[in-house]
Amino acid sequence: MSSKGKFEPKMLGMICNWCCYGGADLCGVSRFQYPAYIKLIRVMCSGRVDLKHIFLAFANGADAMFVGGCHINDCHYNPEGNYDALSMVSLCKKLLAYIGINPKRLRLEWVSAGEGIRFAAIMNEFAKEIEQLGPLGKSEGIKENELQARLEKVTKLIPYIKLKKKEKLALHDPALADHQSYKDLFSGEEIETLILKAPSYWIDPEKCQGCMSCAARCPVDAIVSAKLQVHVVDQGKCIKCGTCLTACSSKFGAVTKITGAPVPPPTPEDRIQVARKNNKKAA
Ligand code: SF4
Ligand code: SF4
Repeated sequence: MSSKGKFEPKMLGMICNWCCYGGADLCGVSRFQYPAYIKLIRVMCSGRVDLKHIFLAFANGADAMFVGGCHINDCHYNPEGNYDALSMVSLCKKLLAYIGINPKRLRLEWVSAGEGIRFAAIMNEFAKEIEQLGPLGKSEGIKENELQARLEKVTKLIPYIKLKKKEKLALHDPALADHQSYKDLFSGEEIETLILKAPSYWIDPEKCQGCMSCAARCPVDAIVSAKLQVHVVDQGKCIKCGTCLTACSSKFGAVTKITGAPVPPPTPEDRIQVARKNNKKAA
């Protein structure tokens, strides 16, 4: 709240160095006004902005997020990063809507370095809209604890979501580059499946031989391992890529994919030694 009691949203913009930042700079030099509570972060390309940046910003108190890039086909990189921003924002809006957050709290615009006055107009319009919406969660009717829980749940799934949707997220199609086509890239059903049917991977302590093949191939070091000891998937680190499932030999079949059910509790210390005992016996 401002000193006059009027709601002042916390708004964050992540804007590309080459175009939108130039537009913001021209806006400042030209003395066009927009609310000082909008804080800007310069990134080299709008394609650098990740789903995780957006969700972390909301989880840390932002009421709205702005992403600004070069106009389509004006990106300074090849392949063009602003296509990545377009599909990422499209997916992010659907995820926000799925967890009950008004997707209008996230806005993407293309602004060239010569569009200082347009940058100010966009900022003023967006700020007014968010002032009217009120603090994050208020217009949505979600309590603070519940809001945090929902944001955290999706944030944890982001690596998995990016893996599952990598083709669409990398779509660079000038023929579809109008916002509507990209808006329709992800259906409500797809989003629901992503969230509700995200699998977990679990290692059965009765079957694991402690051979370390899965741990050696896990891309994020999410398997707690020691030779000849039962391995354990660290569910907090696991990105649900499924590599361990294929890495484990079919003769052991120790890795299980679990969908729609809780993961069994971690293996107790005395059972971690089982594989070692079995192997000693085998030796
Ligand atoms: S889960 Fe499979 S691959 Fe991993 S250590 Fe156990 S037996 Fe080896
Ligand atoms: S699913 Fe992927 S990230 Fe998770 S433990 Fe297995 S290999 Fe590692």
